[in-house]
Amino acid sequence: MPAAFQNPPRDCAKCPRLAGFRADNRAAFPDWHNAPVPAFGPLDARLLIVGLAPGLRGANRTARPFTGDYAGDLLYPTLGEFGWTEGIYGAAPDDGLSLLDCRITNAVRCVPPENKPTGAECKACRPYLADEIAAMPNLRVILALGGVAHANVLTTLDERKKDFPFGHGNSHVLTSGRRLIDSYHCSRYNTNTGRLTPDMFRDVFAAIAALMAA
Ligand code: URA
Repeated sequence: MPAAFQNPPRDCAKCPRLAGFRADNRAAFPDWHNAPVPAFGPLDARLLIVGLAPGLRGANRTARPFTGDYAGDLLYPTLGEFGWTEGIYGAAPDDGLSLLDCRITNAVRCVPPENKPTGAECKACRPYLADEIAAMPNLRVILALGGVAHANVLTTLDERKKDFPFGHGNSHVLTSGRRLIDSYHCSRYNTNTGRLTPDMFRDVFAAIAALMAA
């Protein structure tokens, strides 16, 4: 692991609003994780999936990205279909699931009120995403789940947003030669409204699998 790699401290105070929300959640739900959520999966993976931020009752509770909330119910089985998981997703961090050649993180590590981090919070958390990416020597494809993740990846990598417009299924070749693939976020809202169907989501992973095989 490169020396620069760092996870935010449990009591990270970079974002006053998020630290306040965390304190409230620690008081209301003392058994929950209620702290920055570390990435899941091996650092030598070729695929990095970047979500938005921990869900209140999902990753913020269970301490594993996308674990215990609706988005994970779609994400993990879809990953499994393509061989990026071993074990069965059981919506809990002790379900025995592991990721193969794939790592999952979030643009913002702490749960934001109403799932909406501010621009300042994204900026404050960006060094952690930068370290994450820098610590992945075999990284070939970054999958951004949603426009906020997409924008954060581009800014982290010093790429101009106007050169790489967000769109579901878009595949961008970055300056480094790595790929950035976009998907609508697999949130309950997006699937309930039909903006993202399981088939549309599957197609994104099929495209990534084809890239990896090429
Ligand atoms: N859970 C996460 O960890 N990230 C998201 O973006 C949504 C749910």
